[in-house]
Amino acid sequence: MKVIKFGGSSLASGEKLQKVHQLLAEDLSRKIVVVSAPGKRFAGDAKVTDLLIDCATKRLLQEDTEAIFAKIIHRYRDIALDSDMDLAIIEEIEKDLTLLLAADTNDPDVFMDKIKASGEDNNAKLVAAYLRHQGLEATYVNPKDAGLFVTAEHANAQVLPESYRNLYKLREQPGIIVFPGFFGYTKAGEIVTFSRSGSDITGAILANGIQADLYENFTDVDAVYTVNPNIVKDPEQINELTYQEMRELSYAGFSVFHDEALIPAFKAGIPVHIKNTNNPFSEGTKIVKQRLGSSRPVTGIASDGGFCSIFISKYLMNREIGFGRKILQILEAHHLNFEHMPSGIDNLTILLRENQLTATLEQTLITDLETELKPDSIHIQHQISLIMVVGEEMRQNVGITARAAKALSGSCVNIEMLNQGSSEVSIMFGVSEEQEERAVQALYEEFFVQVLK
Ligand code: ASP
Repeated sequence: MKVIKFGGSSLASGEKLQKVHQLLAEDLSRKIVVVSAPGKRFAGDAKVTDLLIDCATKRLLQEDTEAIFAKIIHRYRDIALDSDMDLAIIEEIEKDLTLLLAADTNDPDVFMDKIKASGEDNNAKLVAAYLRHQGLEATYVNPKDAGLFVTAEHANAQVLPESYRNLYKLREQPGIIVFPGFFGYTKAGEIVTFSRSGSDITGAILANGIQADLYENFTDVDAVYTVNPNIVKDPEQINELTYQEMRELSYAGFSVFHDEALIPAFKAGIPVHIKNTNNPFSEGTKIVKQRLGSSRPVTGIASDGGFCSIFISKYLMNREIGFGRKILQILEAHHLNFEHMPSGIDNLTILLRENQLTATLEQTLITDLETELKPDSIHIQHQISLIMVVGEEMRQNVGITARAAKALSGSCVNIEMLNQGSSEVSIMFGVSEEQEERAVQALYEEFFVQVLK
């Protein structure tokens, strides 16, 4: 039994749905189909989820929603028309969205999540109707009815463990199950979405729940690449990587697969296969628990900008018990996530995602740190990129950091920070955002091109 998930670009038009139908018709072990909301049809097109967010925002601001509402309905209608379907399903979707928009807006987060989730929910109804129209036995299943329960953290839900037991029962249901991605319900019956791109998470939860043999994740690229193809032209594909490597890479900027989606699959030991809907014969990328050793120490290089670092220095910091706790308490009081905290004897750096800070919050944070820690100096640096060099085999290889540092210095990249976890699956380099591309190119050249020469 397999769970198969389709991303939004794989469901954006009638033509794409034909490919989905073909994939399901040729392999009936593809039992559960998880769908995203319709995505972009071409570069510059809008994703339905983004249109829904705009629509909900307008409603919250009491602005006119008519034009954007029509645009959303048109997206579904175009798909149904392309597929020669009965338009009754579109009337149903229109009614549903009208009702949702008329709902109470007292709690904007609750309202926003309901509207966002409708993208997937209505698309699942549409895809199920389409598959039936094509002669397959297919049923839409609502996450509440299936028992997919989550925490009440809006736009950032976490699955509740009891969901897995509930979802196991789906195995008994005949035919194909079409399941909307991206959201679940609280025990009180409220819709809550996962973070953006969270349909990958739904797929992994279902794969775990039904104890699937495989979780297939269909998207619009042939594979996971060793490096971002927007930075290096035609990089190599990765055919197999471990959960840990994928988690590190997606955390650090690889957007092919949601970094939180690996945990449910990993816990149940279910392999994940990333494939291209438009090119299903290409090998794709398999994510597995263990892979046969590779001759290469590095599997991939990821990078992401938008970080800032707070550098704190104080003489004899190493002897001051509770210094770290005080910092973490201040961060917690301001609801700030930190990403890394490399430290020296008398200094420590906190790395944060910049988008969490406003100018005022930044000022308050620095003042609180100064008051509480009485450091010799403290300063914040913006626009930092983190580069992750990832590979399980690094553990067995001597000199990887030296090679990486040499490659970076050879390209005149200034390393602002360096961090290696004890798992030795990744080495992190902090560089200024403007040097990010150059740094990634230098590292790719060192670990992937030179070995071929
Ligand atoms: N439609 C949602 C988003 O755009 C979830 C998903 O596609 O996975 O974030």
